[in-house]
Amino acid sequence: MKVKVLEDKCVGCGNCVSIVPDVFDFNDDGKAYCKKETIDENLKSDVMDAIEGCYYGAIVEEKSK
Ligand code: SF4
Repeated sequence: MKVKVLEDKCVGCGNCVSIVPDVFDFNDDGKAYCKKETIDENLKSDVMDAIEGCYYGAIVEEKSK
């Protein structure tokens, strides 16, 4: 599983960072970004919670090719 944050949609509310700090952090612009190249199996459900908890639809799952 891979996810990315769409910077133009992120408002920097911090929900994702507080739900899964191992995966999301803020960049210098105050927007969230995903720190992990791929999401470990044990973090997947937390990341799904973060996707649902982002009311701006800024976190998207990247389909593997
Ligand atoms: S929950 Fe969404 S809008 Fe809020 S910081 Fe994370 S990606 Fe940005």
